[in-house]
Amino acid sequence: MMTAVEIGRQVASGRVRAQEIVRAALERAELTQVELNAFITIAHESALEQAEKIDERLAAGEDVGPLAGVPIVVKDNICTEGLRSTAASESLASFVPPYSATVVERLEQAGAVVVAKANLDEFGMGSSNENSAFGAVKNPWDTSRVPGGSSGGSAVAVATGVVPIALGTDTGGSVRQPGSFTGVIGFKPTYGRLSRYGVIAYASSLDQVGVLCRSAEDLALSMDVMAGHDPKDATSLAGVAPAFAKAVTGASDLTGVRVGLIEELTGEGNSAGVMAALELTCERLVQLGAELQQVSVPTARDGIPAYYLVAMAEASSNLARYDGMVYSSRTGEDRLGQADVMMKSRGSSLGPEVRRRILMGTYALSAGYYDAYYGKALKVRRLIAHEIERAFEEVDLLLTPTVPSVAYPLGEKVDDPLAMYLGDIDTCLANLVGIAAISVPAGFTAERLPCGVQFMAPALQDERLVGVTALLERHVGEKFAPLAPL
Ligand code: GLN
Repeated sequence: MMTAVEIGRQVASGRVRAQEIVRAALERAELTQVELNAFITIAHESALEQAEKIDERLAAGEDVGPLAGVPIVVKDNICTEGLRSTAASESLASFVPPYSATVVERLEQAGAVVVAKANLDEFGMGSSNENSAFGAVKNPWDTSRVPGGSSGGSAVAVATGVVPIALGTDTGGSVRQPGSFTGVIGFKPTYGRLSRYGVIAYASSLDQVGVLCRSAEDLALSMDVMAGHDPKDATSLAGVAPAFAKAVTGASDLTGVRVGLIEELTGEGNSAGVMAALELTCERLVQLGAELQQVSVPTARDGIPAYYLVAMAEASSNLARYDGMVYSSRTGEDRLGQADVMMKSRGSSLGPEVRRRILMGTYALSAGYYDAYYGKALKVRRLIAHEIERAFEEVDLLLTPTVPSVAYPLGEKVDDPLAMYLGDIDTCLANLVGIAAISVPAGFTAERLPCGVQFMAPALQDERLVGVTALLERHVGEKFAPLAPL
């Protein structure tokens, strides 16, 4: 299976045609779909059309870009012009966006071809991909288990080698956690590093587009293509983005790099397999020259309640637009009157988890409860940010498990939302603080399930994470992110 960098080179040099690559990816997507349900839409027509255009442009001597003919998968809450984008919600089941998200536009401008839109938890709300109006996704390493979520389809597409790069979104861990559960890299950049224009909003102060892939080089290339200010997103970072490819080629070792294990997240509550994976990574880091030490983030464990309050409050506001009036599907006859039609539409076309979150978020924001819930969550958020800032005065990178467990059986946590929420204990911190974080493959557990570990970097230092990933990848070799069986 070629990396994106290799495909781009081969296609650009004329050794292989974009159409061949794209056709193979479409076939593989169809093959996985039967077993794993990773996709909501497989874009046969538009993908082949685009590939043909790329081949024509290359034949005419044009420079198509570094991702020439590279097939990619895009999570279905990211808008793609002319291609249905549902956010895995019944309410948007027939929504075809008239424009593409900036991240998609930039990848396409560099030659990439969208071959499929990936399944997810409805609007990104979930950790197992079971909250989808289009059915659950299965984990390719063990089809009786979840692939993680909410970017489960994107992770499976990469793990099974359908594509080398998939886009996800990460509000509280949705790129990193499925990355860990399926054995691939999952990167959440700094808040604002990638444009959110065209991304269907869940919780706007936490949402960030992220990348799932199997090599540091591919991660760097896709980031170099996508990053950079976007005037269409008011929260997009100004200034020049880091040079990600340089972080890969320039990475030599970790001599003098201080890595801090967060005390509060590396003990009790983690499975034995997760702890073993963490230890293995620690050994590798030491072999690469890093200095390991413990650091304390006393409020780390309060991240979950703070995260869920903020996320639900923002979701209740963002999702008010799906009322069956301007867009989203409409239920009930017009003669019932606007209020009834809205109520019926929202009641029938939004799934149970989404409705639960809208209700809780609305409650947390309502007069009389605001200070006790939402207001308090904001204070905890600030406190955590402060403590993490302080930790970074002692160390250069922070290290934790990505998730306290490996992939669990389908159905195990669907009826216990709190148990599901607790799985985000390690990942939600980076979203609350706005810093970059990555889940890096850390081997397999005794039951042969993949397991990742998470690194976090100080404010705006995204490229350090790409650098450390490149070093670990080189150190481990071929087996760093092996293909899942199909
Ligand atoms: N599992 C978390 C949630 O349900 C994170 C989801 C995400 O990052 N989109 O909110």
